[in-house]
Amino acid sequence: MEKKNLDWSGIGFGYIQTEQRYVSNFKDGAWDNGCLTEDSTVVLNECAGVLQYAQTCFEGLKAYTTEDGRTVTFRPDLNAERMFDTAKRLEMPSFPKERFIDAVKQVIKANEAYVPPFGSGASLYLRPYMFGTNPVIGVKPATEYQFRIFVTPVGPYFKGGAKPLTLCVSDFDRAAPHGTGHIKAGLNYAMSLHAIVSAHADGYDENMYLDAATRTKVEETGGANFLFVTKDNKVVTPKSSSILPSITRRSLITVARDYLGLEAEEREVSFDEVKDFAECGLCGTAAVISPVGKIVDHGNEICLPSGMNEMGPVTKKLYDTLTGIQMGRIEPPKGWIVEI
Ligand SMILES: *Cc1c(COP(=O)(O)O)cnc(C)c1O
Repeated sequence: MEKKNLDWSGIGFGYIQTEQRYVSNFKDGAWDNGCLTEDSTVVLNECAGVLQYAQTCFEGLKAYTTEDGRTVTFRPDLNAERMFDTAKRLEMPSFPKERFIDAVKQVIKANEAYVPPFGSGASLYLRPYMFGTNPVIGVKPATEYQFRIFVTPVGPYFKGGAKPLTLCVSDFDRAAPHGTGHIKAGLNYAMSLHAIVSAHADGYDENMYLDAATRTKVEETGGANFLFVTKDNKVVTPKSSSILPSITRRSLITVARDYLGLEAEEREVSFDEVKDFAECGLCGTAAVISPVGKIVDHGNEICLPSGMNEMGPVTKKLYDTLTGIQMGRIEPPKGWIVEI
């Protein structure tokens, strides 16, 4: 496969249009057969449901080249399942899981020239999404939808090594109890923009959101789950019905237990105990783990012992093992790596 002549390690995280995307439409109660298309535009009626009441959801996953030259993707079945659950909660028609996985494979295959070569640190980001297309003016679910997957090559998340982040405890809430925090809905991001722009303006990299009801428990950031390491090397991730079930975080728990022999627990984490942790990281598809060095709560600084220069040692082991599995250097658990 002849690769595109792109500056793979310098491309950053933005939209680069490729030739092919996958599209399927839902009408009269059924999804059509779906197909690949070169048309990158979406033309909608001015009253389309997505434009009025934000009926839209999405997923994110990556394809990349392994050390031995295979094109693979990571656990697409979990993205299929999560989008299925998200769609249900938003009263959208679920896209069948087998078809989701098939569409993922088709769109990677069709854009194989854009899957960055091994060693570049870059990958091909896939964005599956769905939105209501027919006119909706009274508040109700749309009756017609479009499911699409486009792809875009993205550069290495950390250029020149992972620099620990500084977070601030947000005064805004990300998700209400019994709300939509556990699904990947566009609306969760729309309302987070003001909070992240404000945090950046104040010099922070990310927000730490606490639970909306009591503001005593750690939830997550705008787009990544927390992972903590205790001083006796136990991995801890917050449990809450209003955080998004990150596939990276769930995979890291398995890596901690089954590959590194560490104890790992998912439980409520009170903000008061954050000062006692040895390491902290943010988990998500984009960066796998971003180390956190400092968390600021209204002027009170919590400085993680791992410091502001590098990942903590356990975080580093988790990162190296999961990326080793993804890159084909370490034997994966069954079903994690899907070859294209
Ligand atoms: C997508 C997302 C994550 C990360 O999930 P992954 O499946 O690991 O990419 C975490 N939190 C939120 C709010 C998200 O939307």
